[in-house]
Amino acid sequence: MDLSPDEYAHHAHRLADWIATYLRDVDQYDVLPSVTPGAIRAKLPKSPPIGAESLDDILADLDRVILPGATHWNHPGFLAYFANTASVPGILGEMVTAALNLNAMLWRTSPVATELEQVVTDWLRQLFGMGDGWFGMITDTASISTMYALAAARERDPALGIRQRGMAGRGDLPRLRIYCSEHAHSSVDKAAMTLGLGLENVVHVASDADFRLRPDMLARAILADRAQGYRPLAVVATAGTTSMTSVDPIGDIATICQRESLWLHVDGAYGGSAMAVPEMRPFFAGLERADSLVVNPHKWLFTPMDCSVLFTRQPTVLRRAFSLVPEYLTTPEGDDALNYMDYGLQLGRRFRALKLWMVIRAFGSDGIAERIRHHCALAQTFSGWVRAEGNGWSVSAPVPFSTVCFRHVPEGETDEAEIASHNAAIMARVNESGDVFLSHTKLGDQYVLRVAIGNLRTTTATLERAWTLLRKAAK
Ligand SMILES: *Cc1c(COP(=O)(O)O)cnc(C)c1O
Repeated sequence: MDLSPDEYAHHAHRLADWIATYLRDVDQYDVLPSVTPGAIRAKLPKSPPIGAESLDDILADLDRVILPGATHWNHPGFLAYFANTASVPGILGEMVTAALNLNAMLWRTSPVATELEQVVTDWLRQLFGMGDGWFGMITDTASISTMYALAAARERDPALGIRQRGMAGRGDLPRLRIYCSEHAHSSVDKAAMTLGLGLENVVHVASDADFRLRPDMLARAILADRAQGYRPLAVVATAGTTSMTSVDPIGDIATICQRESLWLHVDGAYGGSAMAVPEMRPFFAGLERADSLVVNPHKWLFTPMDCSVLFTRQPTVLRRAFSLVPEYLTTPEGDDALNYMDYGLQLGRRFRALKLWMVIRAFGSDGIAERIRHHCALAQTFSGWVRAEGNGWSVSAPVPFSTVCFRHVPEGETDEAEIASHNAAIMARVNESGDVFLSHTKLGDQYVLRVAIGNLRTTTATLERAWTLLRKAAK
């Protein structure tokens, strides 16, 4: 038997208090733990317990083992990668998801899991100001969403016969090509690896001075490939690149895709959430002509890991790429019901719609827009300080959203390797403080630091602390 509901209630109340204390005091921890690889494993028994352990003992280890080894993503000073927030409504949603343990594979295996997923992805579409005609589905990550989109692109022309005959050993199949900017996320390359397209067939198109894919270079690459007898399949435009959050010109790219009959997938894993802010929607002009879009609510929409939303205007093609129904999964509902297992690789699917529904309801579309707007304003504040400082400090890329790329160049230094190690040392010193956590990237050959604002606890004071630490570390 399981533990009793009374025992559950006892420990759940304690745990609720523990979580409340954690959220209240999270800034007391070092955002980046000072542990060396293997140190945590060394503290833990090598083998599982033979007898049952008490929940009192197990929960005590949250403080002893778990927290000291955690990088605190809910810390206001988390400014690395793309900072995010497990918000209170999202945390509550996760609790209920675990308790109900619904499986959203078929409509029948939990009607509410499927229908809430339909409703909440449609809410998100409206919250983003997108038009009608988009089908939404929740996946775990943008990497998977993008792979699904490219699998659909590969299936769009059934004459290729890949679903049935595969790709290997076929003389009748030309090379299939995918195009994205040189700053696109590595998940595009990984999807090409996984789908059998091959890394060589991902064409990384040059970008302009503001790191946006150049449509003229895209058109030229497609033309050159056709001349070689290759078969262009899809373009991935990025709305908010991972390094510097640049936005590819979606409208111009869509025009090329329409002319060339290519699938257009828009990767808005991070940046897509900015569509919640009406005045930021011009960045996404042309999206209505895309075939698919990914946005990660677990990045910049206050939803706990994991939650990615794949939208497509071609659900029939996506379904053709993935639907395969064995006898034991046939149901009497037939076409009256949506079975999400038909639109992806997974059969079993977590009930992720619940936490997203709770986040959207608890903040409202105005509240979400206000929070995202505030993060963008904080990024402008921070980049303003860097620009005003001089003394070798500079902002390295435009700041359309909530992420700032910047660096420090010592007086007279021109050697990029020296500048890189100087900035890496600055970052290491700042991260050692435990107060803030920054990461870095490369823009071309330039090593730069990043401040990514996405946590709801981050304030001007957090950024002041980061800026003080940075300037001290540069001396
Ligand atoms: C973070 C990111 C991804 C990958 O997201 P996962 O959900 O971690 O797979 C893809 N594309 C862009 C632009 C990203 O910033």
